[in-house]
Amino acid sequence: MDAVSVLSEHTGVLVPRLWAMSLKGSPLKRLLLPLRDDGRRRGSTWLQFCSQCLAEDAQPYFRRQWRLANRVSCQHHRCGLRDRCPSCRSRIAVFNQVELVPQHFCATCGFDLRQASKVPVSPSIRSLDQCVHDICRLEAIASTLLKNSLVRRLLAIPDLCGQYPTVSLVRLSTSARVRCFARLAIRQNDYNWLIDDDDAVIAVWRRSILSAGGHAPFIELLANALERKRRRCLPVKRPRPTTELSTFLTAYLRMMENPRRSV
Ligand SMILES: [Zn+2]
Ligand SMILES: [Zn+2]
Repeated sequence: MDAVSVLSEHTGVLVPRLWAMSLKGSPLKRLLLPLRDDGRRRGSTWLQFCSQCLAEDAQPYFRRQWRLANRVSCQHHRCGLRDRCPSCRSRIAVFNQVELVPQHFCATCGFDLRQASKVPVSPSIRSLDQCVHDICRLEAIASTLLKNSLVRRLLAIPDLCGQYPTVSLVRLSTSARVRCFARLAIRQNDYNWLIDDDDAVIAVWRRSILSAGGHAPFIELLANALERKRRRCLPVKRPRPTTELSTFLTAYLRMMENPRRSV
C-alpha cells in the first residue's frame, strides 16, 4: 500500500483530495529541491522553513511552497527561509525521525525549529521572490507553464546572474539562491529575462505583476481603479433648493405683522 492510501485510510481524506494537496503532476515539479544531499555547504537541501510561521501554527506544518527552489523568503513575516537546523547545521529531514515527535523538531539534534531566529532579507529580494512565485503559480493554474520556457529560465538563474555559472537553481542552498536573487533585484530595469514570452498577453501580465510588486497588490490596484471608474459613472445628485426654516418663519411673522408689506 502506498503512502497516500495509508494517509487516506487513517485520516478519512479521500485519495484525490490528498493528491490535490501535493505537487504531483504540477508544472512546478521541476523547481522542487532534490532529496539527494551532496554535502556541500552551498548545496541545496530537501526542505526550507520559516521559524515564525511554525511558531504561529496551532499544529506546525511545512508549507508546500517551501519545497520550491524559487522560494527564498516568507512574505508574511518579511524574512528569509532557512534550509538547515541552526543548531547542528544538518538539513531538515523530517522523514528521518526515529520516534513519534512533532515535525518541527530537528531529526538530528532535537532542536525546536520554531526557536530559530529570523533571517533578514531585503525588501527588493522579497518582492522579486513573491513576483516570481505569483507568476509561476498563475501560469501553473492556466497550464501555460508547461508550454513556455519560464521554468527553464528560472533554473538557469545562477548562470544568468553570473553568480554560479552552469549550476541549476535547485542545486543551491537557500543562502546561495538569496545571493542570486540579490544580483537580479539590483537590475530592476532589466527583468526581460522574466517578462519575455512568445505570448504577448502573458508578457503583459508578468510585467503588470512585477510593477505592482505581486499578484495581490496588482489585483488591489485593479479593484481600486474599477471602483474609481464606477464612482465617476454614478449620476450626479444635485442638491434640492432648500429654505432655512428660521428665514421662512421670520418672513411669515413680518407678513402677519404688516400684511400690506411685501416680503
Ligand atoms: Zn513566515
Ligand atoms: Zn539540528
